[in-house]
Amino acid sequence: MAVEPANPCDPEPGLALPSRHKGRRKTRNRSSVKTHRNYTVEEVARAMGIAKGTIRRWIRSGNLPALMDRKPHLIIGGDLIDYLKGRAIKRVKLPLHECYCFKCRAARPPALAMADYIPLTPTTGNLRAICGTCYSLMHKAVRLAALTTLAGILSVSVRQGPASLIDTSNPSPSDHFPQEGEPNA
Ligand SMILES: [Zn+2]
Repeated sequence: MAVEPANPCDPEPGLALPSRHKGRRKTRNRSSVKTHRNYTVEEVARAMGIAKGTIRRWIRSGNLPALMDRKPHLIIGGDLIDYLKGRAIKRVKLPLHECYCFKCRAARPPALAMADYIPLTPTTGNLRAICGTCYSLMHKAVRLAALTTLAGILSVSVRQGPASLIDTSNPSPSDHFPQEGEPNA
């Protein structure tokens, strides 16, 4: 009777293999957006669970680039990702006098230490400045109360009136956002 001796040195192949973690990364809303795809406002709203009006506001504020010359307006996935990253960074910590430059993808101090303050409400407004590195336009929401502190660092010009009357850099007559097929029309 030949009994196969159990050799304790024989590794069991099943145990010797390291178990591989094939688990995918947790899917976050942002990662479902593809850099090179174009999205309509509606698609972004659905993908991210955000109101369409919020996304239109991001576009109108000039912070989220969109292809406005076609209908429906298209947002490039990469721009959306950059915008969301920028918002995340703003939330983390941005020195008061610095703005997030979407081109540099970094916090930048304004060129020549100059900025405009455009009031939006009695207590808040937009700081508008030129990136000191790449000369792109930068925006940042600030509180009116912060202007005193800012004035010690930057030369801030306060623009009067609502931003919509001041910002005539893109005077497009088709800027009136025709309601693109609202379902409740
Ligand atoms: Zn820049």
